[in-house]
Amino acid sequence: MAKKRAGKPVRPTTQAKAKVKTKVETKAKVKSVRRATKRTARAKKYVYFFGGGKADGDRSMRDALGGKGAGLAAMTNAGLPVPPGFTISTDVCSLYYANKGHTPATVETEIAGHVKKLERAAGATLGSTKNPLLVSVRSGSKFSMPGMMDTILNLGLNDAAVERLKARTSNGRFAFDSYRRFVQMFGSVVLEISKAVFEHEFEAVKHERGVSLDADLDEQALRDVVVRYKRVVRSATRRDFPQEPHEQLAMARDAVFRSWMNPRAQEYRRIYDIPDHIGTAVNVQMMVFGNSGDRSATGVGFTRNPATGAKEFYGEFLINAQGEDVVAGIRTPQPITELKQVMPKAYAQLRDITSRLERNYKDVQDFEFTIEDERLFMLQTRNGKRTGYAAVVIATDLVAERLITQKEAVLQVDPESLSQLLAPGFDPAEWNAIPVVTTGLPASPGAASGQAVFTAEDAVKRSDEGTPVILVRRETAPDDIAGMFVAQGILTATGGMTSHAAVVGRQMGKPSVVGASEIEIDEDAKWCSIGGQTVREGDFVSFDGLTGHVKLAQVASKPSEILQVMSGELKAAKSDISRRFMQILTWSDKYRRMGVRANADQPDQAELAYAFGGRGIGLCRTEHMFFGEGRIPIVQRMILADTEADRRAALAELLPLQREDFYGVFKAMHGEPVTIRMIDPPLHEFLPKREELMVDLAKLEAKGVTGDALEQKLVLLRRVEQLHEFNPMLGHRGVRLGITYPEITEMQTRAIIEAACQLAKEGGKVTPEIMIPLVGHVKELRNQKVIVDRVAKAVMKERGVKVKYLVGTMIEVPRGAMTADQIAGEAQFFSFGTNDLTQLMLGFSRDDIGKFLRVYQDKKILDKDPFATFDVEGVGPVVRTAVELGRGARPGIKLGICGEHGGDPASIHFFESVGLNYVSCSPYRVPVARLAAAQAALAVKGGD
Ligand code: PEP
Ligand code: MG
Repeated sequence: MAKKRAGKPVRPTTQAKAKVKTKVETKAKVKSVRRATKRTARAKKYVYFFGGGKADGDRSMRDALGGKGAGLAAMTNAGLPVPPGFTISTDVCSLYYANKGHTPATVETEIAGHVKKLERAAGATLGSTKNPLLVSVRSGSKFSMPGMMDTILNLGLNDAAVERLKARTSNGRFAFDSYRRFVQMFGSVVLEISKAVFEHEFEAVKHERGVSLDADLDEQALRDVVVRYKRVVRSATRRDFPQEPHEQLAMARDAVFRSWMNPRAQEYRRIYDIPDHIGTAVNVQMMVFGNSGDRSATGVGFTRNPATGAKEFYGEFLINAQGEDVVAGIRTPQPITELKQVMPKAYAQLRDITSRLERNYKDVQDFEFTIEDERLFMLQTRNGKRTGYAAVVIATDLVAERLITQKEAVLQVDPESLSQLLAPGFDPAEWNAIPVVTTGLPASPGAASGQAVFTAEDAVKRSDEGTPVILVRRETAPDDIAGMFVAQGILTATGGMTSHAAVVGRQMGKPSVVGASEIEIDEDAKWCSIGGQTVREGDFVSFDGLTGHVKLAQVASKPSEILQVMSGELKAAKSDISRRFMQILTWSDKYRRMGVRANADQPDQAELAYAFGGRGIGLCRTEHMFFGEGRIPIVQRMILADTEADRRAALAELLPLQREDFYGVFKAMHGEPVTIRMIDPPLHEFLPKREELMVDLAKLEAKGVTGDALEQKLVLLRRVEQLHEFNPMLGHRGVRLGITYPEITEMQTRAIIEAACQLAKEGGKVTPEIMIPLVGHVKELRNQKVIVDRVAKAVMKERGVKVKYLVGTMIEVPRGAMTADQIAGEAQFFSFGTNDLTQLMLGFSRDDIGKFLRVYQDKKILDKDPFATFDVEGVGPVVRTAVELGRGARPGIKLGICGEHGGDPASIHFFESVGLNYVSCSPYRVPVARLAAAQAALAVKGGD
């Protein structure tokens, strides 16, 4: 779970504030910021060395060193073979932005000292013609952002050093291949020259030499490539490719800082709720070469299968390849088990090291290694990303293996994993009847079916139109992130289980099949061929992310295994994952303080919520019941009635229907509390649209229809016009309806209490909580409470049964929140309606925010959708005040939340911190909320 870290300079805010100041004030401020920056720059340590078995940092320092830097420090301290290097902390990234794109001179000095130290450790010198030091320069933030930022390898090469590299390795091809890669990476990342220009030159040389594979270019050809690349640099930047390695290093470092703000990294952070202000660290590390020959290799892996959670050594490697080749998906790598045959000693060492790492970190490790001339080097270790399925399997296995405690298991599983496990799969009978056209690598489980699209933009466009899509790509790149996010699934032709598509697909919980190498794709022409069949944009493709099978058809999906167990279709004993899922939830319940209820209006929803562990209904929206079969005409009659008598007649028809609904919901909740909200939305929502009525009328008139039929339409139109409101959300809705039409409150109270009495007579138990919506003034509530109490009393007398009930209110109008003490004088409970409260606090219409939210997020005005994740900063204080006022006036008042935020883990954290009694969310989110509430309770207890 991403958490905000306070107290670091935040560039957008600083800039925004500066704008409103006068010039003089601004200058003074800038000066003082610079002075402060200089002071802190002097006082603080910004660069951390690792090498020779000892590191300045350690694994707890992810804030400052980033995940990669902390991992390198930890591995070095553990005595593992890690090439030496140093980490420039994330604070420097913040300073870089605060200083308008400059790294402060004092930090430069600190870096220079560490370069010297690294040179001593490596026994080589940056810029030396005799023994040049070559380094990699890599990004690494606190939260892993695979492929989103930039990396530069082989830095330190220049015209002289490349010759030394050739002489040292007796391999001119390798030396010049490294140099051309460096110029290309440096050119595109640091000098911002389009990659395509370099690729064009590369292809031209291949063409001249008549070869099709990169590997077929000899030393001479690669020398030629370098010359051409340098020409590209000269013409694009009007200066020669920088030959001085210290200058190369400073430029590369700053480029990595800049890559923190590139659009794909920003998009990634938006999707994963990673704050912008935390910045990236930069790791500078001595190069080791996995591409120096056939006794060298590079690879990545996991200590357990990140797709299924199975306890198996898992990963891939490429012989004679450099760093990013595996992840980039350019060549399809070999499974790591084959390394055992090729280099048994390095393999055994790797297995030993990674098992130790897993034990130390008490979690699955995702590692990167390089083997240079059979010598193993570890380049990275971090907790591995995994599918929701794997998360549950791994956490329960680790507890069984006594590697972690139940509490640690609860903290380890991302609550969203549980919702992934509830995602649908295909019906086996239907799926098996369709022929498999090809099989790829099963990178991320789940059933996906949709229309093929071949670019991320098309994926976004079609899915915006409501069409489910499968993103089919040769390979995905970080730029595709938006398309991947909206697609039902991702299908690629190249790449392995750790390619970009696989890693990101798993992380998103998105079904993914990768490396389906029989697929030939023409992304520009928007078609592909699979097993001899042509698939054009818009044709249906389906696949199973657990088996890798791809089929050409539209296939309906079926509920998840867990849902099948819940519905009784599958025996619990037959489902291992369902047992583990329940295990995590049972453990969660030991640690959570808040109750979890569900928002449900129908008995079947209530039953599902109960089965998921929802203990109570936090919101039953009675108006949803009005949409039940055959009910709309009665509701319309109620609304259209001219007189109270007519309205009562219609309400009398609704009464038995509502009573039946309530009875069903009460029963499904097995005695747990049920909060029923009185009618809330504007009445016109139940009537036909004005425009549609006018069209109907015009048609009738054109046909010459007169008499009753025409008259009825006219009456309807007139009433619809009377009910028309300019701002219906601020209009005649909520408690205002009950006040103007008390007979509605009467009917609903009667239905509730009659249902409760009926159940009580049958020996059932229920405590209805009658909730009045949209209260802003205590007198509104008082008015309604009189009616509720009067009717409840009368019904109980009639039925000869006494039932306990509560009367409370929603807190969703700011005035209601700010006068919560008065309101608590009347209300026995509050339920925060954070949907309306957010709408009214921010002044954003909850129905229209979609039109501008994206722009707000792109422009960094809003981080998150405030209707999805609670605005702790803006709306939080109002909730906190209402809690304090409410409890002050009525100690022990029951407090809950039933807005959409009740199912959002980050929001649940806030509700825990203000001490609400429960959260209420949709039935499917109940498992997520149970786990998130446990994590929140543990975090709050731990002083988080
Ligand atoms: C709310 O406003 O948060 C709420 C739960 O009510 P509704 O969404 O029905 O307006
Ligand atoms: Mg509301």
